Order: sequence, then C-alpha cells, then structure tokens
Amino acid sequence: MLQPLENRIALVTGASRGIGRAIALELAKQGAHVIALARTQGALEEIDDELRAHGQEATLVPCDLKDFDALDRLGLAIHERWKKLDIFVANAGVLGPVSPLSHIDPPAWENVFAVNVTANWRLVRSLDGLLRASNAGRAVFVTSGAGSNAAMNAYMGAYAASKAALDAIARTYAAETAETSRVRVMLANPGPLRTKMRAALMPGEDPMVLRAPEEFAPKVAAMCAPDWSETGKFYDFKTDAVKGFRAPA
Ligand code: NAP
Repeated sequence: MLQPLENRIALVTGASRGIGRAIALELAKQGAHVIALARTQGALEEIDDELRAHGQEATLVPCDLKDFDALDRLGLAIHERWKKLDIFVANAGVLGPVSPLSHIDPPAWENVFAVNVTANWRLVRSLDGLLRASNAGRAVFVTSGAGSNAAMNAYMGAYAASKAALDAIARTYAAETAETSRVRVMLANPGPLRTKMRAALMPGEDPMVLRAPEEFAPKVAAMCAPDWSETGKFYDFKTDAVKGFRAPA
C-alpha cells in the first residue's frame, strides 16, 4: 500500500534530537526521504542508522543555521539532486537567555534571532523556488505560544520576540504563496514537550508529566501531506485545533 508521504523529499531542521528528530523519523516512516539538518553529526548518523535498519536512508546535512551562505548552498544542492522540495519543516530553535530583558547580553539576543528568525527567512529565500516546483509544497514552522502570548513571557523576551517574528514570516509566506502556487504554510505549536529545551527552561519539572515529541510528530506529518489544504494558520497541539490569526482586540 502507498504510504501518505511516499517519495516526498522533506527537509527537517533541528533533526538531531527532541521534536525535530521525532518529526524526521515520522516523515520517513510515512515514506518520505528526509534531509536531516543539525550541527551534531553523530546524532544525525544515528537517525540514518535507524532508518537503514528499516531499509531507508536519510540525507545528512551537518550545518550551523547561522552559516547563512551554507543555507543558500543547500538550496542549490537540493535543486541539483531533486529539482524540487516537497516538505520543509522549520523546527530548529534555541531558547536563549532566561532573564529580564534589561539583563540580556546583546550577543545572546542576536544568537536567538539568528537561529530562530534570520535562518528561517534565509531558508524561505533559498527554498521557495523548490517548494513551488513541487506538486504540493508544504512548509511547517515550529513556533511557540510565547510568540503570541506576551503576558506570560516574563524572562523569555528574546525567545518570545523571535517566535513572534517567526509567526509573521510564516503568515507572510503563506500570503505570498496562497494564490500563486500550490505551497501551503502552517505554524505548529507543540506546547510543552519532553525535550532538552524544555528541561533547560524548567529544570525542576518531572519530564514524565510531559507529552513526548513522538506524539506531536504525526500531527506535523499530516500538515506535510499533499492533501493538507489549510494555509497561514496555527496548529495548537494542546487543543488539537487549527486556529486563524487573531489580531489584538
Ligand atoms: P531541543 O531539544 O533543544 O532541539 C533543538 C534542535 O535545534 C536540535 O536538533 C539542535 O541541533 C537544533 N539547533 C539548535 N541550534 C542550531 C543551529 N545553530 N544550527 C543548526 N541546528 C540547531 O529543542 P526542542 O524542544 O526539540 O525544540 C524544537 C522546536 O520546538 C523549537 O523551535 C522550539 O522553540 C519549539 N518548541 C518547543 C517546546 C518544548 O516544550 N520542547 C515548546 C514550544 C516550542 P544541534 O544542537 O545538533 O545543532
């Protein structure tokens, strides 16, 4: 029987651990060929080993997202090999400093914006033509409630501001592709999940009270499928609902 993502070419950033790893494995399980990007080469090789045990393989891209020229080269390499990209999951992110706005060092702020915002814009710039060349290009940006809920974000200012900017990039890209292509663009909010990032934010929390990334991954896979039709919307895992953008009252 044909798998839902059979032969789809899928780039997943932050695939070395946590949510991105779970998404990469889920997309592969559903038939996609995964291009797995992160800095930690050994962790990417473990994904490839896991897939090879099931007769599949991944394309590994050990890369720092702050190397913006490398993101341009990645687009060219995907074009040379496949001439298109079916799925782009912009998952990689950093939490950054957990401290009052007035205490954040400028380099720490800039690092959060480089990874969470600029790298994702550079990837849109590099991959747009490839997504449009697909018969059903899908982009999913992994965001956070922090981007739209500033009242809750004391001490997470850099992260919250970066996710608000990411939300704007995704909605803008959705608006730019909705009428002129078959590309569909979603934001996906996992809520608190059992990962290294969450443990860094909440060191005293029992991780076992949290849901696992493997539960969220099939929801992202559904948004990557050719039959997904929504665009410019926000999927919230906690409520399992697709929401439109709500401007402040
Ligand atoms: P995580 O466990 O810390 O994993 C982050 C991933 O991003 C890793 O694979 C890491 O790979 C990659 N990454 C970080 N900086 C990078 C860089 N400069 N270049 C390339 N890759 C980089 O975090 P997570 O919890 O899975 O988070 C994934 C996404 O979900 C993030 O966007 C996060 O904001 C969002 N999110 C998470 C939660 C949660 O509760 N976990 C809640 C809401 C939103 P390397 O270190 O190998 O490079």
